[in-house]
Amino acid sequence: MTTYTIECDSCGRPFKAARAHALTCSVTCRVRRCRERQAAQAAAAASLLHRQSALIVRMTSAADAAERDRLVAELDALAREAEATIPAAAA
Ligand SMILES: [Zn+2]
Repeated sequence: MTTYTIECDSCGRPFKAARAHALTCSVTCRVRRCRERQAAQAAAAASLLHRQSALIVRMTSAADAAERDRLVAELDALAREAEATIPAAAA
């Protein structure tokens, strides 16, 4: 049987795997990797929400239509960024 030597995506240690696309060396590392990714996504979501709120606040006091249009475009870009970085946002 073919085995693959892969560097664990969580602890960084090399391990032997039956699957070429294995990511982690153990259940412990799989769970830790999943939790770290969830935490990173939650932080990214919080950051996007914060930036979105700031843009909306600026929009309410925009000096003119051109400034408002520019801020709407920024909000659209932010929404696309959310879809790209946070899987749940695209669902
Ligand atoms: Zn590991």
